[in-house]
Amino acid sequence: MNVKCSLCGRRAVIRIGYAGVHLCEEHFSSYFERRFLEATRLLRMFERGERVAVAVSGGKDSLTLLYLMSKHADALGVEVVAVLVDEGIRGYREEKARAAEAYAKRWGVELVVKSFREELGFTLDEAVSALMEDGLRYKPCTVCGVFRRYLLNRAALELGAGKLATAHNLDDEAQAFLMNALQANLPSIAREGPRSERVHEKLVPRVKPFYFIPEKEVLTYALLHGIESPPVECPYIVYSLRHPLRRWLNEVAERDPSVKHRVIALKNALAPLLDRGGPFRSCRVCGMPSSGEVCKACQLRQYIERILASR
Ligand code: SF4
Repeated sequence: MNVKCSLCGRRAVIRIGYAGVHLCEEHFSSYFERRFLEATRLLRMFERGERVAVAVSGGKDSLTLLYLMSKHADALGVEVVAVLVDEGIRGYREEKARAAEAYAKRWGVELVVKSFREELGFTLDEAVSALMEDGLRYKPCTVCGVFRRYLLNRAALELGAGKLATAHNLDDEAQAFLMNALQANLPSIAREGPRSERVHEKLVPRVKPFYFIPEKEVLTYALLHGIESPPVECPYIVYSLRHPLRRWLNEVAERDPSVKHRVIALKNALAPLLDRGGPFRSCRVCGMPSSGEVCKACQLRQYIERILASR
């Protein structure tokens, strides 16, 4: 069926279900970029003259964010640097990293790579195989997430970045809220938002310019702008609660296109009422921000090192 753009009558490339409109390539692209820029301005994500570290994984969302940040860097008044964390996931990360390197080069952005191997002394594959011998007390995504956040923050600090921008979209945030709710993780619900404050001198504030934009729109924009990513999936995704929640939320959204927006609205209404945890102090081991005496990254690292040493 040849559906027409609700604004100009040309061939539509996407249906924006929650707004009840169809848009052609041109109108969708300008709508998407406008929403990206509006989010950065309305939520005061950046300050003019500051350096922004953009976290890239080599997936379409983060590459799209890097593209838009580099395209609008002058208008936003920022300098953009890309940061990639190589966890050491064989058959997956190398391919995604190659895509990130190629696009960063094409768009003239410096790319800094931090690897688990160099920074921690082991890869995620090695950590997971050790954890499996010890009853898998921590799931791969938990380990990956703790160390990735830690290394991204450290890289942003070393680069002198004023902000760390990530490509989390509306779907990611709705899934994260549901996961945190199911795990009764209230401080995370309270803390996670489109922008964070500097609550510790060594914690670079995070911003999420796609926070209110559905994944489908990010992927459509990427497709229309020739942004591609190798079609490989992380082998550890099957261990994650996010995986079934994502499928379920997408099924519900088929019948109710506004449901993800309402999940985020609920989260944003609840967050100010909840205890954020903290205050942050400095980790006794590494000096980085921590809610306890020793940060989660140092605790996990010591635990994994002990298992690896006992083999
Ligand atoms: Fe890391 Fe889990 Fe994502 Fe794989 S699926 S990259 S282990 S967070």
